[in-house]
Amino acid sequence: MSSGSERKDFAATKMMKTIMGNYFGELANGPQQGRKTAWCTSVGPAELLQSLGYNVYFPENHGAMLGATRMATDLIPLANAHGFSPDICSYLTSDIGSYLKGATPLQKMGLAGIPKADVLVFNTNQCRDVKDWFQWYARQWNVPCIGIHTPRAIGDVDAPLVDYVAKQIEDLIGPLEAVAGTKFDIDRLREIIACSRECTLLWKRVLQSAANVPSPLTFFDGTIQMGPAVVLRGRPDAVQYYQALVAELEQRAAEGQGAVPGERFRVYWEGMPVWGKLRDLATQFIELKTCVVASTYCNSWIFEALDPSDPFRGMARAYSSIFICRSDDEKERYIAEMADKFHINGIIYHDSKTCPNNSNSRYELPQRLRERLGIPYLVINGDLNDLRLFSEEQTRTNIEAFAEQLTEV
Ligand code: SF4
Repeated sequence: MSSGSERKDFAATKMMKTIMGNYFGELANGPQQGRKTAWCTSVGPAELLQSLGYNVYFPENHGAMLGATRMATDLIPLANAHGFSPDICSYLTSDIGSYLKGATPLQKMGLAGIPKADVLVFNTNQCRDVKDWFQWYARQWNVPCIGIHTPRAIGDVDAPLVDYVAKQIEDLIGPLEAVAGTKFDIDRLREIIACSRECTLLWKRVLQSAANVPSPLTFFDGTIQMGPAVVLRGRPDAVQYYQALVAELEQRAAEGQGAVPGERFRVYWEGMPVWGKLRDLATQFIELKTCVVASTYCNSWIFEALDPSDPFRGMARAYSSIFICRSDDEKERYIAEMADKFHINGIIYHDSKTCPNNSNSRYELPQRLRERLGIPYLVINGDLNDLRLFSEEQTRTNIEAFAEQLTEV
């Protein structure tokens, strides 16, 4: 029986479980089937890897699983003891801890452990940690680690920048062909990019459904529904999945079915999720009749600039346009636009201790946006995976006080 404070599931979620299960099955069976495995950062050149016939594995997705299952808290100290600071990315430390212990939620998906890489491919558009992370495995397994160095704090994504990044993506082809033992085919890449773009546009529609009042979707739903947009982009099953989900959401919106019954306030979430506390936070917001309708995080996998007719420059533009690698002026402009589009009453910033790259409350951005938008904000101190850095009591109280503040605006 529903208590009224539980999140509503979507019928499409069943299909997501199937396609994600198939994906993990392919990763498990890859070596027997003679398919090579490439590790890829979440905003790395996944389409290029797929076009060369690789099974593509995303360790950040594994990091999020370790957080959501709360395994991370026990695993992080193992990586710390190995020489990785407790202050660096807790995806990295939980993932390496998981490898050192030989314990992973992937074992429930039919894998013996994390899939061994034949090559690791990073993009530093999000942080340096991904490169250090991948290089550690490259040393463990004696396999190549190659990648793209994208500048940070980008203002305009202009032609020289796009050319610089596109050239780096193109230069990956030779080493990737050598490991895969296949020949690059530009038409195959164009096909995959077209499919990836379709997936991205559908994912955008999923998130935009939350602009409806009441919103049929919350940020917490989004963190679950985003899996295929991250790991299956470029594949037809992800497109089919989001077609089904969009239809369901648009129907709920048309019927006025809100994800938060009696929605009173609409909040924007800036920064990483607290993976181990998603359910608790979702429940608290439902109790406060406050819907977290939009986030920077879920919107980071919208890659509209992908272009099958100009594959390398399109990928370069898409992957250099993401929020995390932009200048503070661009970030401010983006959040202001989102606040308007989603009818936001307040902004919550998650200052995630081990991810300064995705914590945007440290350089006066909240104050500038409060001034600009005239809406209140709250900063939550916590972490994406390390629950030792998250005070449940304090956060609960602060969110309650914030909701109270929203009633006064
Ligand atoms: S962006 Fe943050 S959470 Fe993601 S890999 Fe880099 S440091 Fe870790």
